[in-house]
Amino acid sequence: MAVTIKSPREIELMRESCRLLSGVFDHMAEHLHAGMSTYEIDRIGEKMIREAGCVPNFKNYNGFPASICVSVNDEVVHGIPNKHRIVQEGDVVSLDAGLIYKGYHSDMARTFGVGEVTPEAEKLMAVTKQAFFEGIKYARAGNHLHDISNAIDAYVTSFGFSAVRDLVGHGIGTRLHEDPQIPNFAQKRRGIVLKPGMTLAIEPMISAGGWEVTWLEDDWTVVTLDGSLAAHYENTILVTDGEPEILTLGKY
Ligand code: MG
Repeated sequence: MAVTIKSPREIELMRESCRLLSGVFDHMAEHLHAGMSTYEIDRIGEKMIREAGCVPNFKNYNGFPASICVSVNDEVVHGIPNKHRIVQEGDVVSLDAGLIYKGYHSDMARTFGVGEVTPEAEKLMAVTKQAFFEGIKYARAGNHLHDISNAIDAYVTSFGFSAVRDLVGHGIGTRLHEDPQIPNFAQKRRGIVLKPGMTLAIEPMISAGGWEVTWLEDDWTVVTLDGSLAAHYENTILVTDGEPEILTLGKY
């Protein structure tokens, strides 16, 4: 599938889809606390998505049973919300979700420390977030896609952390996952040339240890193989003639 270039009308719909999703994340962040189940987080997020007249795009995606992916500590992504999984003080909780507004998808992720977390966890979360910003410095028309990948990888490895390789960012639009794939680790090939009107979900998934991951028996939850903490930070962005526009930037 070719990489899609969005028209001005489509960009407006993407902006609104992403703006609504940012509000959902702000709301979930304000409600996240020790003692609640990961299922409750999913309920809070899905309710707000539906109240906005939107559809949670993760729900039933390839059979995923929930609207919000909630991944705790060594879980990297795709954690399934569960009534019996209670968030604890000191946990590192990644939330990943998206919605569909008038046919247009948005996708974002944030990682939060619950109460007081270890200094290593704080550092991992900060580096993962900054890795996104290091990457999008290169998300400009005329640059190559893998300039983004290389910048993310160089930044995280300078802290002794690792970018997960089995999962990547992606184009986004009328489908949740469009071309191109956007690796978070260094690439030998340069990748496609970026053009104005491309909308991309850039999402560093970073381990405090090694990059290797495995899947739990639920066939969804991705965990670090060495049990290290992981963090995830994602925005949907628009490539323009100048500075990239971050479409999902909320309060966090
Ligand atoms: Mg994504």
